[in-house]
Amino acid sequence: MTRSGLGFDLHPLVEGRPLVLGGVTVESDLGLSGHSDADVLSHAVGEALLGALALGDLGRHFPDTDSRYRGISSLALLRHVVTLVVARGGAIVNVDATVLAEAPRLAPHLAEMAKRLADALGVDADRVSVKAKSPEGLGLLGRREGIAAMAVASVEVGA
Ligand code: MG
Repeated sequence: MTRSGLGFDLHPLVEGRPLVLGGVTVESDLGLSGHSDADVLSHAVGEALLGALALGDLGRHFPDTDSRYRGISSLALLRHVVTLVVARGGAIVNVDATVLAEAPRLAPHLAEMAKRLADALGVDADRVSVKAKSPEGLGLLGRREGIAAMAVASVEVGA
């Protein structure tokens, strides 16, 4: 049986923080604020994987009240999510994600993000897709108040 999960995340953009997306630090005047490295893309992927197996959300597994997760690389969180999936007999089929960001331009970095996510997930690079979309200046994303990411994951599990 193949199960699907949906992930979404949104973090505020602030000065004085690095911008980390899919484990890649992208040059930017603003970075994402959050308890961990605030990597919205990795978080959306993690939420999608948890969702596929109805395991709740990232906050349930990695509470932001736990100092162990302060500043942690979200790829490390993803690797932990994979252990939860595998422990339930799951095998990741594919992940597709979209980052919604007004700036900077992400196109040159998408392949590297997909590769790092695939490495963290333990799957071939061609099973992970990362796309970027401009909000065309509209709303909170267009005003660069934050960056959002969405992801879908498919997981094969025994019947
Ligand atoms: Mg998050």
